[in-house]
Amino acid sequence: MKRITVLGSSGSIGRQTLNIVSKMKDNIFIEGLAIGSNVKILKSQIRKFKPAAVSVNNSSDAQNLRKWCVSNNIKTGVYSGNTGLEKLVTMPKADMILIAVVGTIGLKPTIAAIRAKKDIAVANKETLVMAGSYIMKLAAENGVLVLPVDSEHSAIFQCCAGEKKSQIKRIILTASGGPFYKYDKDFSKITAEQALDHPTWKMGKKITIDSATLMNKGLEAIEASVLFGIPIDKVEIAIHPQSVVHSMVEYIDGSVIAQLSNPDMKLPIQYALTYPERLPSNIKPLNLVEINKLEFYKPDFNKFPCLKLAYYTAKKGRTMPAVMNAANEAAVAAFLNKEIKFTDIAKIVEKTVKAHKISENTSLDNFIEADLWSRQYAEKLINEV
Ligand code: MG
Repeated sequence: MKRITVLGSSGSIGRQTLNIVSKMKDNIFIEGLAIGSNVKILKSQIRKFKPAAVSVNNSSDAQNLRKWCVSNNIKTGVYSGNTGLEKLVTMPKADMILIAVVGTIGLKPTIAAIRAKKDIAVANKETLVMAGSYIMKLAAENGVLVLPVDSEHSAIFQCCAGEKKSQIKRIILTASGGPFYKYDKDFSKITAEQALDHPTWKMGKKITIDSATLMNKGLEAIEASVLFGIPIDKVEIAIHPQSVVHSMVEYIDGSVIAQLSNPDMKLPIQYALTYPERLPSNIKPLNLVEINKLEFYKPDFNKFPCLKLAYYTAKKGRTMPAVMNAANEAAVAAFLNKEIKFTDIAKIVEKTVKAHKISENTSLDNFIEADLWSRQYAEKLINEV
C-alpha cells in the first residue's frame, strides 16, 4: 500500500490521478490533498477519499471547510496557505507527493517534500525548468526518486530503464504540434479561443497555450535535459501528429527505443504511482494497423520562436531558463486576458531574456530572485504593448 499526497487535486492532472486511484484502492491510499480555491471539487474528493489532511489557499475557505467537516463527521485536518502546503508535504505517513500545481508556485512545496525524504512525482515542469539543477541535486542528496508524470518524460524514463546514461546518443522528444503547426495564416490574429482548442490533449489553460506556441515543448526539452542529466543539444524534437510514440531514446550503438500507446494521460500518471510495478489499466489498446501510419516532421523554429528561446536559454543555463519561464507565465496570462496578441508572447519572453544578466550564483534564492525580476520586467513590457 502506497500513501500519496496530491498537490493540485482540482486540476486536470489531479482529477485524473484521483480517478485512477479510485480504481486502485487496494494499492494506493490518499494521504493528503491540496487545491487553490475550488472548494466544491475538494469537498467531493474529501468525501470519496477521506484523506488525513487537506490544504486550501486562503484561511477563510479553510475555516468554512473545517465546519463542513465537523458537521459531516469527517476527521480530515484542514490547513491553509504556504504553511498548509508545507504541513501537507511533510506528513510522516506519505510515501510520495504528486506535484500537479501549475507554475512556479510548485517550487517551495517540492523542495520541502524532498527535504522530508518523500519521493516526488512531477507534473509541474515549471519547477524543474526554474531550478532543475538545484532540485535534482537535493533529491540525490536525500535519496528520493523524482518520477516524471508528463507523457514524454514518462516515455523517456521507460526507454532508459536499465540503461547507462553515458550510452545515450540523443533523446527524441515527440510533439503533437499543437493546433497551429500547419497553420499558414497570420499568427498575430490567433485568438485565445483558437489557441485553447488543442487537437489531441485536453489540458489546463496555461499548458494548452504553451502547446500552441510550442513553448510547452521547449520547457519539456529543458525538463528532459534536467531529469535525465543529458545536455540540451542531445535533446531533439519531432512533430508527431498521431501522438502515439511518446518519445524515443537513441543509444550509441544505433538502437532507438520508443514507448508507444494511445494518447491518454492515465498511463503516465499510473506508471508514476505504481513504479516500479505495472498494474492493468483501462486505456484503449493500441492498434497500429488501425492507426496505419506514424508521421514525423521537423519543427519550424522560425514559425515557433518560443522553441528557439527555450534552447537558447537552456544553453546559457543558470538563471536563464528561470527567467524565460517566468516571462512566459506572465505573457500567457496576459494573452488569456486579451491584453496582448499571440505573437507578443514570444516577443515579451525574448525581450526579457535578452535584458537579463545571468547570475553565476546557483543558490535557490538566486533562482527565485531571477523569477521575480523576470515577472516584473515582463509586466512592464505587457503594459507597453
Ligand atoms: Mg507533455
